[in-house]
Amino acid sequence: MGNAPMRWWAWIPILWMGWSCQSPPPPPSSSSPPPILLRTERPAFSADSAYKWIETQLHFGPRIPGTSAHAACAEWLVAELQRRGARVTQQRGTFRGTPIRNIIAAFGADSMRPRVLLSAHWDSRPWADRDPTQGNAPVPGANDGASGVAVLLEVARHLSQNALPYAVDIIFWDAEDLGREGVEDSYCLGSQYWLAHPEPFPPSSYAWGIHLDMVGGRQAVFPQEAYSREYAPNLLNHIWQVARLLGYERIFIPLSGEPITDDPYYLSSKGGIPMVNIIQRDPMGKGFFPEWHTTRDDISVIDRATLQAVGETLIAFLYSFSPQTLSP
Ligand SMILES: [Zn+2]
Repeated sequence: MGNAPMRWWAWIPILWMGWSCQSPPPPPSSSSPPPILLRTERPAFSADSAYKWIETQLHFGPRIPGTSAHAACAEWLVAELQRRGARVTQQRGTFRGTPIRNIIAAFGADSMRPRVLLSAHWDSRPWADRDPTQGNAPVPGANDGASGVAVLLEVARHLSQNALPYAVDIIFWDAEDLGREGVEDSYCLGSQYWLAHPEPFPPSSYAWGIHLDMVGGRQAVFPQEAYSREYAPNLLNHIWQVARLLGYERIFIPLSGEPITDDPYYLSSKGGIPMVNIIQRDPMGKGFFPEWHTTRDDISVIDRATLQAVGETLIAFLYSFSPQTLSP
């Protein structure tokens, strides 16, 4: 991991050619999106590091709110973020009878505005209610939970070594996955609690945000989630364009996805933060991923190639665009 200063003038224009799969691609027309610029020099995302941090989270056991495994993992996450130079706030409270422990890591001076939010949920589901035989057993949560946290820990390592010219807060939401089918607002308790008690910065501090959920699965594809299209269409288009320029157009697919009630839904609709949710979803209507909410959501479902596609896209996007140059 090099520590050399990045050359910020190293820009190259790359022409955006549209989403067509035809060959040769059609010439740009007046309706084509404008070309986007990617900084050629940016930190190198390591999928091996992210994979290792998924393993570490799994090593604690299921991260179920209120358990000792959950508390031990929280201490480790706080220490890892502090080691990367973040000022960490642990938000503790109770929301609808559930203990909440949100972990908020600030990079960049507290006075900097606007800020950018990156988030994932760090808890894991207490019941494998989609498991055919072990419905009362906990979900290991390798993909559903740990993968997003692991990618953001690797992003945080780069934020500490190559500071961005804007402030970034990484928030690990607690108690996302305690929901019950058909029970309104029973998921996403951590983000709902934060919206009722925002700290250390109010939602209005954030220009936009990006949320990662289930970003390590084998053969994952990420359609354009419907709430993200509604609340942050320009941000979403830019992220998918970046992925395409990096060669990940088969993973970040340009198809309209379904609306998903996840942390970003609450942050956008209740908090006014334009959020994009990068989340695995089968475009053929077969749900999230085959092992979702089963005891088989363990390290065997994780593919470094998916972690690499997501992490590399996120790094390229963050080091090429800022709240000053991009509206959501
Ligand atoms: Zn889940």
